[in-house]
Amino acid sequence: MPKRKHKKTFPCGHKGHGKDCVRCQQEVEEAARKAQKQAEQQRQRHEWAVSFSLDVVNLRGLPTHVVQKSRHIIDELEIGRHFGKLGGKRMIFDKSVIRIPVGLRYRMLCREERGRITPLMVLSHEDYNAYASNRRRVS
Ligand SMILES: [Zn+2]
Repeated sequence: MPKRKHKKTFPCGHKGHGKDCVRCQQEVEEAARKAQKQAEQQRQRHEWAVSFSLDVVNLRGLPTHVVQKSRHIIDELEIGRHFGKLGGKRMIFDKSVIRIPVGLRYRMLCREERGRITPLMVLSHEDYNAYASNRRRVS
């Protein structure tokens, strides 16, 4: 049987073996991990907030998956993918306006000019219906 040393009381009040208090060391490490995690989350939040200034259409306030899908569609259009391949269709009242589904509940409206597709906006299905029924002008 190995002889167990008696526990000593550290200046912090914890009891234990060794030179330094293991519990306090763990607390310090845990606090450092937490601070690092918070800093990383803050960095990601900041990066996410800043990323909207790079979008060709305003995607602020949309659900994250709609933002990501919209960016993917914009990228696809930029590399020359035909809107039809993205599920896009021309609007009946204005053939230069193209609607592309962004998931089930959102639509991207684009303007086609001289063969170039310019995204105009991303909107909810409800807001889109106002355009679709031509109650609101697409500008
Ligand atoms: Zn301690």
